[in-house]
Amino acid sequence: MTDFPVSGGCHCGAVRFTMHAPPLSVQHCHCETCRKTSGSLYATGAVMPCDKVEIEGADNLTAYRTSASFERQFCRTCGCPLFGYEDGETALFYVEVATLDGGVDPGHPREMESHIYMRSRAEWEHVSDAVPHFQTDGPGEIITEAQKSEG
Ligand SMILES: [Zn+2]
Ligand SMILES: [Zn+2]
Repeated sequence: MTDFPVSGGCHCGAVRFTMHAPPLSVQHCHCETCRKTSGSLYATGAVMPCDKVEIEGADNLTAYRTSASFERQFCRTCGCPLFGYEDGETALFYVEVATLDGGVDPGHPREMESHIYMRSRAEWEHVSDAVPHFQTDGPGEIITEAQKSEG
C-alpha cells in the first residue's frame, strides 16, 4: 500500500509536486508523440484530479502543445516532462508518475493500468520479459571513468 502524500519532481528539482491521492488510472502510451516528447519507448501518464495535486516551482515550467487541444508541460531547466492538460478539462490532468521520488508506486487501481497505442510502438520495442534483465549495468553501455570509480 502506498502512504499518501507522495512527492515527485523533475531531475533538477526546480519543479516539485505532491499527490494527496492515487491516480484514477495510469496509461503507458506508445504513440509517436509520446515517444518523441519523452525520448523513450513510451510515456506513462496518470490521470489525477487537479485538486489532489500541489505543484511547487510552476514558474519553472514551460509548455508545448502537441495537438490543437493538448498541452504538455516540462521543466525549462532539465527538460523533464511532468504534466499534461486537455483543453476544457478543468477537473483532471495528467501527471508523469514515473517522476515520483524513489520510483514509489502511485497506488492506482491495477485494473485501471494499461498500455495504449501499441499499434504505434517502435518496431524494435520488445515485450519487456523477452529481453534479458540486468539489476545494474548491462553489457555494451557507455560507462564513463567517473561512473566506474563510483562503482
Ligand atoms: Zn528540472
Ligand atoms: Zn501518447
